[in-house]
Amino acid sequence: MSQHDTCGFSTLAIHAGKIKDAFGALTPPIYQTSTFEFESCQHGGDIFAGKRAGYAYSRTANPTVMAVEQKVAAMEGGEAALATSSGMGAITSLIWSIVSTGDHIVADKTLYGCTYEFLAHHLRRMGVNVDFIDTSDENALKSALKPETKIVYLETPANPNMKITDLRKVSDFVHGHNSAIKVVCDNTFATPYLQNPLREGADAVVHSATKYINGHGDLLAGFVISDAETVMKARMVGVKDMTGSVLAANEAFLIMRGLKTMELRMERHCASAMKIAEFLESCPKIEKVLYPGLKSHVGYEVAARQMHHGFGGMVSFVVSGGKEQAAKFVDSLELCTLAVSLGDAETLIEHPASMTHSTYSPEELADAGIPEGLVRLSVGLENVEDILADLEKGIRAI
Ligand SMILES: *Cc1c(COP(=O)(O)O)cnc(C)c1O
Repeated sequence: MSQHDTCGFSTLAIHAGKIKDAFGALTPPIYQTSTFEFESCQHGGDIFAGKRAGYAYSRTANPTVMAVEQKVAAMEGGEAALATSSGMGAITSLIWSIVSTGDHIVADKTLYGCTYEFLAHHLRRMGVNVDFIDTSDENALKSALKPETKIVYLETPANPNMKITDLRKVSDFVHGHNSAIKVVCDNTFATPYLQNPLREGADAVVHSATKYINGHGDLLAGFVISDAETVMKARMVGVKDMTGSVLAANEAFLIMRGLKTMELRMERHCASAMKIAEFLESCPKIEKVLYPGLKSHVGYEVAARQMHHGFGGMVSFVVSGGKEQAAKFVDSLELCTLAVSLGDAETLIEHPASMTHSTYSPEELADAGIPEGLVRLSVGLENVEDILADLEKGIRAI
């Protein structure tokens, strides 16, 4: 039985990975050091050979970073976690540690823009074949899998259109076909509080901890959570040799500070997002509201099963009249800040087609289900009445 099964989320977020230092410090000390002194040549050699535990150099391990890794592993119900200096650092460090030229990846069509760019342009340039499909369509999945497929990669809810994919169904199908294929889920939108893909059968989880995990909009970070062997490869091949995407001790400290309130923050994000989604759905000038907590969302049933405690803080909606009206809406707001990123205390609003997803061509946007009039809202922690009043200004402007 994992620790997660025996105590609650906040208890883990606060207590897992605790550092016991010589002075009994309550909060984890920041080990602001690049390297660690060895007692003898033998001692250093043994640590390098993996024959004994200990620290050698902060590109492979650091006590403060290790503490946040243990917390996040416990929160996701995984054996181990690797912290990285950004979400892209987590995604690339994991994937580089798995694939070689000639290998094949099946990815969902709807992904965070830079993940899409990495897979569609740069990995292909290195001779890795990538096919983009709708992973929630079992027939598409069946015909996409090849003998050389190493990874099936998806997001749920997907950025930016909140598409829901049944993790249990996809994992069982892929593993039934070939148990060696790794199902990788980007769990940034859902957070470990709302959804644990490893418990649904996925093999690895990646996060942009820049978003909800840190939750305060003041740093960039990422995580890979998986079995110990996969995480070790992502650390010792991915980060150590290929990306160098190391998380700094100071950032690890700040993330742990943010994690103490993660459950409280998520409860507020979810409650406010639901009220806002219902409000937008009642507005005739809004063509469609994409929030998995609405019964009108095609993924509602699946989301209700695989997401616990709520449906998250991200609400996307399509403004009638396309890009021009979407811009008018967004430009008329005062409280909601026009900015990319998400998961912060401040409500953030953006236009994916010209910002986060501008890496997609117009044809690719249409194919991925990202309309020109789509607006993405990251509902913050302000009082919901104030956010609603600001959104009403947007409605009046169009
Ligand atoms: C932001 C984001 C990323 C990239 O994370 P960074 O921390 O900005 O590198 C990856 N996936 C999703 C879903 C994101 O929202």
